[in-house]
Amino acid sequence: MSRWPAIDELAADVKSGKIKAVELVKQSLKAISDNQEFDAIISTLEGRALDRAAQIDKQPAGRLAGVPFIAKDNFLTLGGKTTAASNILRPFEAPYQATAIEKLEAEGAICVAKANLDAFAHGSSTENSDWFVTKNPHDKTRVPGGSSGGSAAAVILDMAPFALGTDTGGSIRLPASFVGAVGVKPTYGRVSRSGVVAMASSTDVIGPLTKTATDAALVLDVMSGRDELDSTTIEKAEASYTDLDFDWSGKKIGVIKEYMQEGLDAGVKAVIEGSIEKLKSAGAAVEEVSLPSLPLALAVYYIVCPAEVSSNLSRYDGQRYGYSAKDAKNLDESYELSREEGFGAEAKRRIMIGTYVLSSGYYDAYYKKAQTVRTKIINEFSEAFSKFDFLVGPISPTPAFKIGEKTADPLKMYLNDIMTVAANMSGNPAISVPAGLAGNLPVGLQIIAPMASDHQMLAAAKAFEDLG
Ligand code: GLN
Repeated sequence: MSRWPAIDELAADVKSGKIKAVELVKQSLKAISDNQEFDAIISTLEGRALDRAAQIDKQPAGRLAGVPFIAKDNFLTLGGKTTAASNILRPFEAPYQATAIEKLEAEGAICVAKANLDAFAHGSSTENSDWFVTKNPHDKTRVPGGSSGGSAAAVILDMAPFALGTDTGGSIRLPASFVGAVGVKPTYGRVSRSGVVAMASSTDVIGPLTKTATDAALVLDVMSGRDELDSTTIEKAEASYTDLDFDWSGKKIGVIKEYMQEGLDAGVKAVIEGSIEKLKSAGAAVEEVSLPSLPLALAVYYIVCPAEVSSNLSRYDGQRYGYSAKDAKNLDESYELSREEGFGAEAKRRIMIGTYVLSSGYYDAYYKKAQTVRTKIINEFSEAFSKFDFLVGPISPTPAFKIGEKTADPLKMYLNDIMTVAANMSGNPAISVPAGLAGNLPVGLQIIAPMASDHQMLAAAKAFEDLG
């Protein structure tokens, strides 16, 4: 397993002719085939990737010239299938590519493979994949986190210098923390969602998984910005995210009280407390801060998210995309059978819950109430950021858990997301940066930043890495 150099160096070497894009793609494909036992990858785009590499070698250009990457299999890509790890999309070939993929390709990057995920990104472990469970590179009996578990494992297994994930309730940050990668959940609207299989449209974001904050900043810089195909995208104020100059001294840091309480694994707690000490030694002013509504964020998320999921999944009806039941006798039966056979248990559970909380009679009791509390969460974050530059805490109550440990009880699985969902409810940018080990398992520090402060957050993450 050979490590990749920094992404900007790699692109510079391709442009100077020192290395060939074709060789990089082959290196990536070899790492994928050497590490099949981890089940991180659903499919490769070998043909298209090698063709693009040969093209790029003729005229190397772009900030990511010849750099291979891996996309979670819920990004629409050309040259292969896009399945979202679900049976219902098993035969689906995308007719166009996600804007994020287009932007990366325009700078010379090459999508080499599609990574495993919980089907439709519903989950925290990749155990809801209709394909297979990805294994944690640090311990094969444990999950890599989810839903972007394949992307996270791929980065640690050096299958590519970066991978893409989506984060609706923590799906980039949780696996990043569980495998020891950097995982960025940008501000809502920072990266276009066009061409990404929708989960919960009011919280879905797209972001990179990398080994370093510097690499993540470059990839996010290329992907971000307004897109006329996604009306929720926001303008990027800064010219670039790649200048990561930062000094912790004088910065005000709030440690989220509600995330440091009982139930937190002792090993995780020790790593986070150690990180806080490092920030203090670097000159930051650190204080505890309480956001009293945060413990409610999980309940809010598991109402709002299924509500949006139930609506977004209605398009898979056996007529327009992917799987269509063969034995149906009429149209209604075709809808029913295609969905019955095509969706897994978790998708069905979310469709049921979502339909229930949106139905008349229950709408006021659940959905409306959840949205009211969501507003409280947003207000508490913005009040906290009037006093603090960043908020910090753990990503999850435990390090990577055992495969099968939580599959019998969906509620147990949902509880993993207790520290990540709030930033999705509010839209704030948040990142997981490797912070240490609990036993032999990685633990990430979560840094949450004010709205649209993705650049400062990346600079802070790099400065945290530099503290060693
Ligand atoms: N684990 C969360 C869920 O199951 C978040 C998933 C995600 O961010 N895509 O909904």
